[in-house]
Amino acid sequence: MKRICLLGASGSIGGQTLDVIRKHPVDFSLVGFSVGKQVDKIPEIINEFNPKFVCVKEDTKDITKQFHNVKFFYGDEGLNKLIKACDCDMVVNALVGFVGLKPSLTALENDKILSLANKETLVTGGELINKLLREGKGKLIPIDSEHVALSKCLAVDNTNVDKIVITASGGAFRKLSRDQLENVTPEDALKHPTWSMGQKITIDSATMVNKTFEIIEAYYLFGYKYEDIELMFNYESFVHSLVRYKNGSYRLDEGKPDMRVPIKYALYEGSCEYDLVYVDKLEDYKASNLYPFEYDRFPIVNLAKKVIDEKGLYGATFNAANEEAVYAFLNKKIKFTDIENIIDYCVNNVNNIQNPSYEDIRKCDLSTRELVAKIVKGEIK
Ligand code: NDP
Ligand code: MG
Repeated sequence: MKRICLLGASGSIGGQTLDVIRKHPVDFSLVGFSVGKQVDKIPEIINEFNPKFVCVKEDTKDITKQFHNVKFFYGDEGLNKLIKACDCDMVVNALVGFVGLKPSLTALENDKILSLANKETLVTGGELINKLLREGKGKLIPIDSEHVALSKCLAVDNTNVDKIVITASGGAFRKLSRDQLENVTPEDALKHPTWSMGQKITIDSATMVNKTFEIIEAYYLFGYKYEDIELMFNYESFVHSLVRYKNGSYRLDEGKPDMRVPIKYALYEGSCEYDLVYVDKLEDYKASNLYPFEYDRFPIVNLAKKVIDEKGLYGATFNAANEEAVYAFLNKKIKFTDIENIIDYCVNNVNNIQNPSYEDIRKCDLSTRELVAKIVKGEIK
């Protein structure tokens, strides 16, 4: 029986993680969880899974006082206290945003298995995470579907790898030209063609920031250089990613888009059964269509190279600029195309340092958010 602490239980990945735990009650138990603002979800989760430790963003006495035998923690620091208190084997980090980095570090520092959906962890703190892993602290397993696909393929054969290939659905605006993107609305951007996900990642998919993040994640998870990581379009999100070998053959993971599959893989630490497809040539693969990625149409993905090569505070700057710009767009304060412009501006104004501490990264996150606030208000042109 694996004891699980689920951060972000009220979100899209969080809810699907509860589905997996619910389906496998002999193998998993929920010993702790967190929600942000959706406190109404607390009673149903406690009543069903009976965990004894919960973290909430803010104190909500009317709910917490109903559960005398449950210990409640609050705020960002509460997430770290929850991890330490609940005596779990595995932390599933399904938080969205930079708030996820510190709990990821805490999980590894306390020798937990970290199942990671929160991509912002590796984008902002990939160096810190890998340092802990090199020191033998904890274990890291991805939840992002592309990285689970790559993990499966590389587990079968990681020799003579030519490229790892991450697939992209293209997001909500794959059929629009760059000019047509000028006037798209948040409502348009939130209509993802293949996946149903939280709001932020849905916008990240439309801007292609999500694929930029995924290249960075792949670098930290598997150690391949930017030049050895390729993108390819698969509009149906049926092929989750591929490994190309030096003899031109491919191994790939396919299936209907359903995040419960990669979540289950992570919860079982890769020990559940799965099928992969192997083809001598990509032309032999007929189940779904793969197309070359349009790097000119989505120049934002080149930022992954900068983050990977320059390290330091580039990832934190990129992430904070994106988070603030996405929320400004969702609140109709800026245009869709401003998201990319704001990221470019911030990344071009980084005072970089090497080997930043968590505190350095946190300060960079804050100052970048302040910079974006000024840009959004029109104080910086
Ligand atoms: P959601 O927005 O659906 O859920 C986010 C969760 O984080 C919610 O439980 C939310 O709480 C909580 N949360 C947000 N801010 C805070 C905060 N400041 N303090 C404490 N808790 C907070 O996001 P998703 O589930 O879509 O995504 C989660 C992560 O997984 C993201 O990093 C995303 O990029 C990644 N991911 C998501 C995929 C998907 O299919 N959804 C696929 C692959 C990766 P509340 O809602 O109660 O406020
Ligand atoms: Mg993904």
